[in-house]
Amino acid sequence: ESLSTFSSYNNVPIFKGRVPVGVGRKRMRIVVTGGAGFVGSHLVDKLIKRGDDVIVIDNFFTGRKENVMHHFGNPRFELIRHDVVEPILLEVDQIYHLACPASPVHYKYNPVKTIKTNVMGTLNMLGLAKRIGARFLLTSTSEVYGDPLEHPQKETYWGHVNPIGVRSCYDEGKRTAETLTMDYHRGAGVEVRIARIFNTYGPRMCLDDGRVVSNFVAQAIRNQPMTVYGDGKQTRSFQYVSDLVDGLVALMEGEHIGPFNLGNPGEFTMLELAEVVKEVIDPSANIEFRANTADDPHKRKPDISKAKELLNWEPKVPLREGLPLMVNDFRNRILNEDEGKGS
Ligand code: NAD
Ligand code: UDP
Ligand code: UDP
Repeated sequence: ESLSTFSSYNNVPIFKGRVPVGVGRKRMRIVVTGGAGFVGSHLVDKLIKRGDDVIVIDNFFTGRKENVMHHFGNPRFELIRHDVVEPILLEVDQIYHLACPASPVHYKYNPVKTIKTNVMGTLNMLGLAKRIGARFLLTSTSEVYGDPLEHPQKETYWGHVNPIGVRSCYDEGKRTAETLTMDYHRGAGVEVRIARIFNTYGPRMCLDDGRVVSNFVAQAIRNQPMTVYGDGKQTRSFQYVSDLVDGLVALMEGEHIGPFNLGNPGEFTMLELAEVVKEVIDPSANIEFRANTADDPHKRKPDISKAKELLNWEPKVPLREGLPLMVNDFRNRILNEDEGKGS
């Protein structure tokens, strides 16, 4: 069996040959729902690189073929256009269930569809896991803590969530998805894992998905003012995508169900984030204040002691190192956009 050979296109590895999996480990077939999205596509890269077979299920609501195109032609990669709200029959060893819009702008666009994706989509993937005996990992969110009254947030905190607000389709949807996951575990013996992901950024985020890091970075590159919502004193903790992907795989491969917080505890106000983006992209960038959105959580920071202890995982990339890594990707895509407009 030949060794793996990778070349690259836009800094993304391109598969050229067969990759033997590590000694003593069985090659697995793995489904990644939402695998054409931001986080999913980075996870797919890691799984393909280590030698597994990957099937991506995606309806391309917020995902893009471009994110996984470098695997086209690889016999170990398969892409299925499918909506997880509908049942599907497959035979796999593991299911990473990511399908769900993650940006507030996207998940509020069609809130009922967001709930269906979280509830019926998760139900279908759990039904699949039950039928074939696959291990199932849910990507839940720090939003299950709502506008938290405990700070930083531990997994034992039950949250402070508005059930009838504009964010409820997402945070209550994910809470129900967690409930379903635990009920399939308790009731049907499905092997499950739950990750509660905190704000994550990196290359391949949608340029205009409305999330704060992608907004500030795109605005600074386009010489537009960075839009700070409210007084900008609300906080978030930003994790670089490679750290998250390492955490998801450690969780899937480990022995613990969770839930586990996966996030970077480095906490920033939005004004501080704007300062870092200025340092990295353009010291002369300006900010502009805008009205904040409803139910915006005031602060958010993960307590990651549990993941450190039980998964031996912690993030490695601080914001000041991670941001430059996404800026190149954003610059290229914004440049292509501008060229497209000109022609
Ligand atoms: P994303 O929007 O880039 O990716 C989501 C993917 O799911 C897209 O490819 C989209 O087309 C697909 N999808 C959406 N609805 C679908 C459906 N009904 N059927 C099939 N595919 C569908 O978002 P992301 O940032 O990559 O997030 C991935 C997962 O991680 C989501 O479940 C999200 O809730 C969770 N998460 C992300 C963050 C973050 O900061 N990025 C934070 C917390 C949780
Ligand atoms: N399901 C699926 N693929 C499968 C098995 C089940 O999509 O391989 C769906 C099934 O259509 C159902 C859901 O998963 O909507 C839950 O399945 P389960 O068998 O747990 O419940 P039931 O079908 O009895 O409601
Ligand atoms: N935000 C901002 N400017 C923007 C977009 C968002 O100040 O252009 C703020 C938003 O009000 C929130 C924080 O940034 O307080 C994080 O928002 P995001 O949508 O990225 O994620 P989430 O609210 O889901 O954590």
